[in-house]
Amino acid sequence: MKLWKKKSHQEILDRVKSALDQNRSFYKEPILGMPCSYLDSKIFPGNSPILANAPFLQTLVNNPNHIGCHTVATSEATFEGTQQLERELLDIIACDIFKAEHGNYDGYVATGGTESNIQALWIYREYFKAQGLSNDEIAVVCSEDTHYSISKGCNLLCLNQYKVKVDPETRKMALEDISAKIKSFKDKGMKGVVFVANMMTTMFGSVDDIDVIATALQSSGLDFKIHVDSAYGGFYYPFINVDTKLDFSNPLINSITVDAHKMVQAPYGTGIFLIRKGFMKYTLNQDASYVKGEDYTLVGSRSGANSVAVWMILTAHGPHGWSEKVYILKKRTDWLCQKLKESKINFFREKKSNIVTIPAKHVNPKIEKKYYLVPDSHSKPSWYKIIVMEHVSVGFLESLVEDLSLELAEHY
Ligand SMILES: *Cc1c(COP(=O)(O)O)cnc(C)c1O
Repeated sequence: MKLWKKKSHQEILDRVKSALDQNRSFYKEPILGMPCSYLDSKIFPGNSPILANAPFLQTLVNNPNHIGCHTVATSEATFEGTQQLERELLDIIACDIFKAEHGNYDGYVATGGTESNIQALWIYREYFKAQGLSNDEIAVVCSEDTHYSISKGCNLLCLNQYKVKVDPETRKMALEDISAKIKSFKDKGMKGVVFVANMMTTMFGSVDDIDVIATALQSSGLDFKIHVDSAYGGFYYPFINVDTKLDFSNPLINSITVDAHKMVQAPYGTGIFLIRKGFMKYTLNQDASYVKGEDYTLVGSRSGANSVAVWMILTAHGPHGWSEKVYILKKRTDWLCQKLKESKINFFREKKSNIVTIPAKHVNPKIEKKYYLVPDSHSKPSWYKIIVMEHVSVGFLESLVEDLSLELAEHY
């Protein structure tokens, strides 16, 4: 952790203030050519006392637009200050958490994990197209536990998706099915593969075995790119498994999605997309000629306040504070699993993860409702999950285990 430093409240205030000072101000300067302004002052007055000592709110009211990708191109000078803060945020995440080489990656703060995942698929589709492949020669491959944003992306981008079966007990991709799927799409004339590997799936917290995937892909002889979806797990898993191979230290990993609006408790609109240098160019849109630096991203206009919020949260904790936070969540989950075992309630938990998934037979509608448990399928639930987030205290968990044990005693 070389770039990520813990900062005091005052240091954070000063840094955001200096970023805002480096932006041009709609309040003070003749900004005549842009379709944007400060927030409506009837509702959000720029001089409200609420804004003192509230850098995120100050940024919101100033309303900087971060359109474009600021690691690739020089963007609108109007919002240079907060765009620089976005780059500092990306450095922390890409270099310190995901082990990219400094200056050797690109990225941006996207609307969420969905956009980041679609951005990855879009870049790889264009990358393969540049090599002469048609849509029908590109296969998108992932496990059946993968988030639905991948099928949304395949639908939008007209790509073929292949879902590899997982073992119902371990949630690991079945080796035979990886080979079977590769053989079947190779027979259909696929020449390029986009593999989406999970660092903690949404329902089970399961993590794909990258070595198994890499071996299968390498022996297929096909050209492939691997994208890691760590939308949920990216701010948790690397702190618990410091030797993970699902980051940029692994030459096979080409891009990563991670959401700050899940485990980081940042406002919505803070998905982060990261990719090795040299790939953003595939989605450069030269028709965006009125945007300085042009555009490479799916979203277009986006709020600079989102980057500021995530930067503030991460620097307030610092790397050690963050590890401690993750450690506490893991410990609470350990506690829950121990109690479930003692009560003879089955569950799935990926090693050290903070998601515990319980077979639906243990959960009656009263328990589901009382604890807001989320099923894998609302129409036909087989599993319910518990996610041990910041607000999920041992007290709540204790009460849940009690109710589950009573249910078990009544029915078995
Ligand atoms: C939540 C999630 C997404 C989608 O993220 P949004 O921010 O809701 O768009 C994608 N992948 C995984 C693994 C997720 O958990």
